Amino acid sequence: MHAADPNISENPAHIRRLDDGAINRIAAGEVVERPASAVKELVENAVDAGASQITVAVAQGGKLLIRVTDDGRGILPDELPLALSRHATSKIDGSDLLNIHTFGFRGEALASLAAVARMSITSRVAGGDAAKLEAQAGNLGDVRPSAGRQGTIVEVRDLFYATPARLKFLRSDVAEMRAISDVMKRLAMAEPYVGFELIDETETPRTTFKADAESGDPVEALRRRLRRIMGPEFIDNALAIDAEREGLHLTGFAALPTYSRGSAVHQYIFVNGRPVRDKQLTGALRAAYMDVLSRDRHPAAVLFVDCDPVLVDVNVHPAKTEVRFREPGLARGLIVSGLRHALAEAGHRASSTVAGETLGAFRSEAVVETPRVYQMDRAPLPRGSFERPAQNTDFLGGFAEAASARVEPELEPQTETLDLPLGAARAHLHENFIVAQTRDGMILVDAHAAHERIVYEKLKTQRDVAGVSAQALLVPEIVELGSGADVLLSMADDLSKLGLTIESFGPGTIAVRETPAILGTVDAAQLLKDILDEVEDTGTTTSLQARLDAVLSRMACHGSVRTGRRMQADEMNALLREMEATPKSGQCNHGRPTYVELKLHDIEKLFGRR
Ligand code: ADP
Ligand code: MG
Repeated sequence: MHAADPNISENPAHIRRLDDGAINRIAAGEVVERPASAVKELVENAVDAGASQITVAVAQGGKLLIRVTDDGRGILPDELPLALSRHATSKIDGSDLLNIHTFGFRGEALASLAAVARMSITSRVAGGDAAKLEAQAGNLGDVRPSAGRQGTIVEVRDLFYATPARLKFLRSDVAEMRAISDVMKRLAMAEPYVGFELIDETETPRTTFKADAESGDPVEALRRRLRRIMGPEFIDNALAIDAEREGLHLTGFAALPTYSRGSAVHQYIFVNGRPVRDKQLTGALRAAYMDVLSRDRHPAAVLFVDCDPVLVDVNVHPAKTEVRFREPGLARGLIVSGLRHALAEAGHRASSTVAGETLGAFRSEAVVETPRVYQMDRAPLPRGSFERPAQNTDFLGGFAEAASARVEPELEPQTETLDLPLGAARAHLHENFIVAQTRDGMILVDAHAAHERIVYEKLKTQRDVAGVSAQALLVPEIVELGSGADVLLSMADDLSKLGLTIESFGPGTIAVRETPAILGTVDAAQLLKDILDEVEDTGTTTSLQARLDAVLSRMACHGSVRTGRRMQADEMNALLREMEATPKSGQCNHGRPTYVELKLHDIEKLFGRR
């Protein structure tokens, strides 16, 4: 943020107390609610101070220690007490809360931290001497001479020791550490020219995140920074975005639909350089991909909306993660149109790679087994690429033959079955779709989606009655999940009620002992990864119940009839009857329909008979 701001010079900015008028206009509330919010405030201060390198050391998820070291412009010794007092800031003069160019402006973070922890701040301005000030539970000590380089070190120990009630609400060290790391990554995305390092000092100090300062062209600097944070796969599959509309500028990177994710965790939006969580804007991101992504897949993107600060109010929420646009529709519209345009232009690129890969897969599989044509559970391909390549006649020939072999002409519908809502199964097409006949029309069922919904409902019923019945694996499956392992292990008790028994198997590794019986044989590694995605996605905002429902829904996908398997007549009819008996069976867990009905007279209309 400082990079774009010409007002910030190398000289220390003087800290002043805001007047009561300004104080009253500032969104009030808790700034520091957990270690990650403390880290966020301190790192933002370092960025505001023009730092080029920011190092954060934490111990025990930030509960024991948070130390933020920067090489920014520092604070004058005389002003240290002011920095730790409420409503004192060097960043605004209080006259214009609508024209803010820095992360901070409320003058509250340091004071709030000093009130609830043991804190020290050591600082030195260019050409000055270092000084240090300590505070405990709101009591400030004296400013003392100290040693150190230019910049500031803020150390916060025993966060919330002065407010034990608050301590109780903190989550596990692992969860807090994860939140801290997330905060760091978001700020690192916003500031590619600043170097960031996160060190876990709980035991032997260990760097858990590091991004060196980038230089050069902004788009390239951001590209390199995102490669570091999101991984090469994201950036290699992402489109550079650059769109403008009525004073709003949209930049960043958005992944091709083929690089969609199982959860919304890879969506980052910044407004004027500030990481925000805004339903409107994420909704717009989702809307932009609506045509090219199914409901259960989530786009991955890092987007920056920039505009004149007067067009957006950042003073909405104490944590400054929410913003309000003067014209909300404008930002939303820009995201939708900007991304759609970029995706349309890239459509060719996406579909050509996918078509090529798909073709390749058919050619090799055709020799061995029947090709799996429609994999509803996989990342959906962009619309256009569902069309089979017409020039590949070999393939078409093979397909026609395979398809005709699936029809079972001996299937005679039983009269009473014809009267049932979903009718009598007559054929199984393309290894997934069931064609059923009713009295006055036909039903086309997506067997995979239907089965998924049924399994989900069954899992829910089992869970509510006596817990989901589990099936022990002969040999426990060992799955490596890295930092995700602790997240799942922390839920082990809840998961075991869902039929999934896991235990720790060394660092970052989980042993799966039992899986839900109803799922049959499952790929345990994939199951765990999907559940982790789901938990991370729904984790912080929803109730435990909602989270577990989401986990069940994910499990159901794994138990579903895989496409590519031929179904017998009685099996198909059984599925139709189960669908009739299952609540909400008209749609799969992802909101897609499980069947469509065509009335005879509509079919006749198609052929001009009516
Ligand atoms: P705000 O950031 O809203 O101004 P803070 O309580 O976070 O409020 O900080 C108060 C003041 O202390 C800032 O305005 C700034 O002048 C000074 N300050 C805080 N952290 C730093 C830092 N790392 N380097 C230089 N100055 C800082
Ligand atoms: Mg601040």
